[in-house]
Amino acid sequence: MDPETPVIQINDLHKAYGALEVLKGVSLNAPKGNVISLIGSSGSGKSTLLRCCNLLEDSQQGDILFKGEPVTWKGSHHGRRPSDPKQVLRIRTNLSMVFQQFNLWSHMTILQNVMEAPLTVLGRDRAEVEQAARGYLDKVGIGDKCDVYPAQLSGGQQQRAAIARGLCMEPEALLFDEPTSALDPELEQEVVRVIKDLATEGRTMLIVTHDMKLAADVSDHVIFLHQGLIEEQGPPDRLFGAPTSERLRGFLSATH
Ligand code: ADP
Ligand code: MG
Repeated sequence: MDPETPVIQINDLHKAYGALEVLKGVSLNAPKGNVISLIGSSGSGKSTLLRCCNLLEDSQQGDILFKGEPVTWKGSHHGRRPSDPKQVLRIRTNLSMVFQQFNLWSHMTILQNVMEAPLTVLGRDRAEVEQAARGYLDKVGIGDKCDVYPAQLSGGQQQRAAIARGLCMEPEALLFDEPTSALDPELEQEVVRVIKDLATEGRTMLIVTHDMKLAADVSDHVIFLHQGLIEEQGPPDRLFGAPTSERLRGFLSATH
């Protein structure tokens, strides 16, 4: 792949739930190694956009490209879905999603949680996966929690386990949907620290967040969504330091 080819490219994406238009023509580019934050009010379409990247949502119009490869669709402009299951699998396994509510499997230990998808989805060798999984759990600072169950961990530890699980797929990019929103403020920081480390390492990430400090600290580019459209976007210094749109100014003053 040409190193200049973005990992994720979205052009003029339209997405509706029935009569409700949620994305009204959104475009974005996630170059390799970049961190892009999506900010905006509740209901502006941030989660939907993230889920579209991962092909968890169908859509009506526009292009989604993974490493330059366009997603192929079947259906009409009333609603279309990806037509190639192998392509969907390839893209989805290359974009690890981290959710607000962690979504760990409660009946599996932390180590089993991290190993599960590489074993069952990618069919990788068990010994290699176990070694990698332990390494990623160490990396997020919970290497001593391999054999406990999710309910025995704090929210911050569970979210770090979910990040280790995402990393163990060795994806091209990580997609975070409000990764710190379910956490108490003192636990938020331990997850923020892990995300910052990943940014420093040059991971490609798309982060939906309400944490403007996190967005300002880690992003190469920030996108402000308003009612399904990009209202303003730019580098964090400019976007937070000198917002031009009235709506963004209002949003930022309301979040402080
Ligand atoms: P955000 O993440 O920015 O808060 P979402 O992308 O979750 O916003 O939602 C955007 C809009 O789409 C909201 O009006 C929401 O109610 C609506 N929506 C989200 N998911 C669904 C769904 N599965 N069915 C119908 N409407 C939905
Ligand atoms: Mg959301």
